[in-house]
Amino acid sequence: MYTKSELEQFVKQAKQYARYGKVADYIPALGKANPNDLSIAIYMPDGNVIDAGDTTHKVTLQSISKIIALALVLMDRGEQEVFRKVGMEPTGDPFNSIAKLEEVQPAKPLNPMINAGALAVTHMIAGASVTERFERLLQFVRKLAGNPTITYSEEVAQSEFETAFLNRSLCYFLKQHGIINEDVEELMDLYTKQCAIEMTCDDLARIGLVFAMDGRDPFTGEQIMPLDVARICKTFMVTCGMYNASGEFAIKIGIPAKSGVSGGILAAVPGRCGIGIFGPALDEKGNSITGMKLLELLSKTYSLSIF
Ligand code: GLU
Repeated sequence: MYTKSELEQFVKQAKQYARYGKVADYIPALGKANPNDLSIAIYMPDGNVIDAGDTTHKVTLQSISKIIALALVLMDRGEQEVFRKVGMEPTGDPFNSIAKLEEVQPAKPLNPMINAGALAVTHMIAGASVTERFERLLQFVRKLAGNPTITYSEEVAQSEFETAFLNRSLCYFLKQHGIINEDVEELMDLYTKQCAIEMTCDDLARIGLVFAMDGRDPFTGEQIMPLDVARICKTFMVTCGMYNASGEFAIKIGIPAKSGVSGGILAAVPGRCGIGIFGPALDEKGNSITGMKLLELLSKTYSLSIF
């Protein structure tokens, strides 16, 4: 159904919106991105991949990693333990907001997609050391993408580590309230490396496909995560995957998706395909402005909304 020339046409159309966006620069290394870049890959269950734009370009996962860490931690710890420490409700607040943390009794972050919740999730990745926990996460990412060469950008991780004062304050709040009990600098080391895992749109799309196929890798036949874990992750993608624009995104586009401030978007069209996008010009809520436009064009043209 999708053709490369049509996809190239959509990329051209969506690129015109780059001028209304801005690359994230609160993590200094991300500020180097070119706002006019835009690439997309669509991975089908039969192995067909259609892509457009500069698909050799690598994107760091940033918040997209939150959905992958959540899947791993649900497998490590089970639903009950995970949701004892983090809630299931959208906040309507920006991803790094500290505001609602004090309103929940007993204190716990409202969901795993805001930074506070994601830090609590990363804290739960099992392993004896930061190195072992990161290695486990990286192996999981490689398996999902079917690409053993995936690694992380030391430059981006370091850049965030040196400047993440707000995330540190979230960690101290969580520690005060017993949600985490590890050294904050160690957790920040693990979290900034997790966010700096980098890959191409093709890799992103293939991970999206595994979620779209309920956790099963259609090429190896392996059930990489239980169906329930994939279902929970996709539900969070719908309710809070696109920051505090998730409601509007559900209405206009209607595809489970998770974005990151690097301009990446991972989308999973249930039973049909995985989509990976990289477009670093962001709107004021932190979503790729060109990526959202591209998804809107795709969703409308091919009726991809799940609703
Ligand atoms: N590493 C980023 C942070 O914690 C991720 C934010 C995002 O992509 O939304 O601020």
